[in-house]
Amino acid sequence: MTPSTELHDLTVAELAAHLRSRQVSAVEAAQHFLARAQSHAHLGAFLDTNPEVTLAQARAADARLAAGTAGALEGVPLAHKDIFVTRDFATTAGSKMLDGYHSPFDATVVSRLGAGVAGGAPGAGMVTLGKLNCDEFAMGSANENSAFHPVKNPWNTTRTPGGSSGGSAAAVAARLAPAATGTDTGGSIRQPASFCGVTGIKPTYGRASRYGMVAFASSLDQAGPLARTAQDCALLLSAMCGPDPDRDATSLDVPAEDFTRTLDADISGLRIGVPAEFFGEGLAPDVRAAVDAALKEYEALGARLVPISLPRTELSIPVYYIIAPAEASSNLSRFDGVKFGHRAKNFKDLNDMYEQTRAEGFGDEVKRRIMIGTYVLSHGYYDAYYLQAQKIRRMIADDFQQAFQQCDVIAGPVAPTVAWELGGHGNDPLADYLADIFTLPASLAGLPGMSLPVGFGAGNMPVGLQLIGNHLSESRLLNVAHRFQQATDWHTRRPQGI
Ligand code: GLN
Repeated sequence: MTPSTELHDLTVAELAAHLRSRQVSAVEAAQHFLARAQSHAHLGAFLDTNPEVTLAQARAADARLAAGTAGALEGVPLAHKDIFVTRDFATTAGSKMLDGYHSPFDATVVSRLGAGVAGGAPGAGMVTLGKLNCDEFAMGSANENSAFHPVKNPWNTTRTPGGSSGGSAAAVAARLAPAATGTDTGGSIRQPASFCGVTGIKPTYGRASRYGMVAFASSLDQAGPLARTAQDCALLLSAMCGPDPDRDATSLDVPAEDFTRTLDADISGLRIGVPAEFFGEGLAPDVRAAVDAALKEYEALGARLVPISLPRTELSIPVYYIIAPAEASSNLSRFDGVKFGHRAKNFKDLNDMYEQTRAEGFGDEVKRRIMIGTYVLSHGYYDAYYLQAQKIRRMIADDFQQAFQQCDVIAGPVAPTVAWELGGHGNDPLADYLADIFTLPASLAGLPGMSLPVGFGAGNMPVGLQLIGNHLSESRLLNVAHRFQQATDWHTRRPQGI
C-alpha cells in the first residue's frame, strides 16, 4: 500500500490481498470502515451497526488468516441490504412492521459471504459492517419509501441514490464499504448502481438462494452484489451463488462457479445487441450520449453492434406492476402482528388486531401494492389481469430468446434519466414505475443483468450502462464489463469530498 492510499480506496480484490499478506488486519479494516460509516452518517445509508459484533467477526477472521484456514475474501468488510435476515443485527426490510425484529438465523447469502453455513461449507470470511437502508420491503425506485429516512446520493446529497437498494449503492459510492449486497426484483440493484456510479449485478433467477431474503415478489426476487468494479462483483457473486435445495425450492441445481476465471477473456467479435425500444423518446439526451459513447468504446474494443428489437418493452411496466403486487399481497400476509415485529397496542378482538397492526405497520406504497395485488388476484379479475400478465410475461421472455439468436449480450441504458431530486416525483407513484422501463424486461424473463458506470449526465450525475445476458451467462457479462473497465476509468471516479 502506498502511503497515500487509504483503506477505503482499495477494491475488494486489493483488500483481500492485503489481508492475506497481513499488511493490514481484519480488525484494522473493520475499525476504519466503521469510523467512516459514522463520519458519513448524514447520508442515511446505514439502518443498523453493531461495532462489537463487527469486531468479533474481524477477530475471528484474523484468527483464520493466521491459522491458514482463510476463506476467499477473509476479513474484507461488507454491508448487507436490510432485506437479508441477520442473527446479529436487526432486520427491518425498511419497514416499521419489522422495527426491532431480530431473526434467529442468517440468510444463506449472508452465511456464504460470512463465516459459512452452520455444519456446512465454510464461507468467504467477509466481515459484516451493518445493515443498509432500502425502500420498504424493496418496493420503490428512490429509497424514499424507507419507513425510517431516505438515503442521500453521495454525488449530490439533494438527489436520490435510486432504489430499492439505495443504501447499498450509496455506501459503496461513498466508500463506506468496499462492497454491499442488494436485491433486484425489477431493477433494484442495477438502477441504484447506475444512479450512484458503481457496478452491480443481478444474476439469473435461482442462482442465489432466496432463503432469508424478506420476500417481495418471489418469482422475481434475486440477490446480487454492488461494488466498484466488475472484478469485485465477480468475487462476491462467486461466493453468493450455488444450490440451496433444502432451503429454497427455486434455487437452481447449478454448481457454484468462479466468475473471475474468464474476466480477462478477449471480447473481439462479441455481438452486442442494441434494442431499438431502449433508445426511444423517453430516453434523456444526456443519458443517451453517455450510453452511445460506451457502445463506441466497445466497438473500439472489437465488439460489433447489432440492432435488435424487444418489441414488448413497454408492456413490461403493466405486466410487472400486476405480477409483483400480486405476489407481494400474498407474501406480506404473514405480517399480522402475531409472528413478527410490530403489534398494535389497542385492539378489540383478533381481526381488529390484524387490521390495526397492518394499518400502523405498513407505509403507503406497501398498502397500495397489497390492494392492487389483492384486486388482480380476486375472482372476476384474475383472468383479466393476472392471467393476461403471465401470458405477456412469457412473450417478453420469448422476445429475448429471439434476440439472443442474433447477439451474445444486450446493451442499453439502465434508466431513462440520471438520479432525480429527492422528492422530485412528489406523490406520484406512476412516475417511479415508468422509470423502471429498462430494468423490468430482464427481471420478468429471469435473465442476468448488470450496470456499470460509463459517464456523467445532467448535473454531473453518473450514468450506468446495462448489460443483459442469456440465462447463466454471468461470467460473460462480468467479462464484458471488466474489459470495459480495463480500458476506461469511469469506475474510479469518486464523488466530491469522498
Ligand atoms: N422499482 C421497482 C419496484 O418498485 C423494483 C424494485 C426492486 O427491484 N426491488 O418494484
